Amino acid sequence: MPEELEQRQFLQPEGFRSGFIALIGRTNVGKSTLLNAVLSQKVAITSPKPQTTRNRIVGIKTLPQAQLIFLDTPGIHRPHTALNRYMVESALKTLQEVDLIVLVTDASEEKCLQEDERLLKRLQGITVPIFLVLNKIDLILKERLLPLIAAYKDYLAFQEYIPLSALTGENVHNFVQQIIPYLPEGPLYFPADQVTEQPETFFIAELIREKVFHLTHQEVPYGVAVVVEEITETENNLLRITATIYVERDSQKGILIGKGGQMLKRIGELAREEIERLFGMKVYLGLWVKVRKHWTESERWIKELGHFSS
Ligand code: GDP
Ligand code: MG
Repeated sequence: MPEELEQRQFLQPEGFRSGFIALIGRTNVGKSTLLNAVLSQKVAITSPKPQTTRNRIVGIKTLPQAQLIFLDTPGIHRPHTALNRYMVESALKTLQEVDLIVLVTDASEEKCLQEDERLLKRLQGITVPIFLVLNKIDLILKERLLPLIAAYKDYLAFQEYIPLSALTGENVHNFVQQIIPYLPEGPLYFPADQVTEQPETFFIAELIREKVFHLTHQEVPYGVAVVVEEITETENNLLRITATIYVERDSQKGILIGKGGQMLKRIGELAREEIERLFGMKVYLGLWVKVRKHWTESERWIKELGHFSS
C-alpha cells in the first residue's frame, strides 16, 4: 500500500466523521475571527469595517476523529446593489449543501435579535441542523445570555446555543467539539495538513485588499477588487507577482496612489512583507491601480473577477 494511503487509513479510524459547515451571520459579528480561532491560523481577513469578506473561504480543521470543513459565506443582508444580490444568492445556495449551519451573532449588540430577524426568516424551513453562536461574550455580562437565548429560541429551534468569544478564545474548543456529532461518517476530504482549499492567488489578493483597507481608512470604500495577474517563480528563487487594484472612481485612484506614489508604495511594501512571510521566499510585487466605473453594479463584472468564483 502506498505510504500516503497507509497514512490515511491511520487517520481514519472506525467512525471517522467529516462534513461541511456554513458560517453565516451579518457582517462584523465575528465570523472570520471565529474561523481564525478555530484554525489557529490567519486565513480570513478581519477588519472593523463591514463587508471585507466577500469570498467563500474554506477553512479545514482536521482532528484525530473528524474533519471539519468550514465555509465562511459572505454576510447575508439586504439586497441593495447587484453585488449584494449575488452575495445573498450564493450564500443561500451554499446552505442547502452543508451538514451544519452555524449562525453567528454579536451578543454584545443591543439589538442583535432585531438585526437578525431577516436572516432568521430565511432560515425557517431549512432542514439542515443550525447552531446559534453568541459571540463577543467578553464584552457582556453573563446575565444577558439566558434571556437572549430564550428570545432567539422563540424564532427558531436551534440544535445548540453556544456562547463564546472568538477574540479571547473562550469556549471555542467546546464549539468545535459540539460540531463533531452532527457530521456524518465520512472520509478525509483533504490531507490533514491542509487548512484551506483556496489557491495562493486568493491569499495574495486578500492580503493586498487588507492593506488597502487599513492604510486608506475611510477614504477608499468597499468598491475595491484585487486581481492577481501573475505569479511566477524566477530562477533565483524570487516570487514575481503582479496585481491590479480596481477602484470605482478617479478620486479613489488618486487616494490609492497618493502623493508621489507614496500610498501605493506603502501598500505594496506591507503586502510584500506579509506575502514573504507566508511563502517563505523573497517577493517582487508589482501593483497597478485601475478605474472600473460602477463595477459593483455589474454582476457580469463581479463574476469576471477570479476571486468571486465559488
Ligand atoms: P465578520 O464580518 O463576521 O467576518 O467579522 P470579523 O471577524 O471581521 O470581526 C469584526 C470585528 O469584531 C473585528 O474588529 C473583530 O476583532 C471583532 N471581534 C470578533 N470577535 C470578537 C469577540 O469575540 N470579542 C470582541 N470584543 N471583538 C470581536
Ligand atoms: Mg469576515
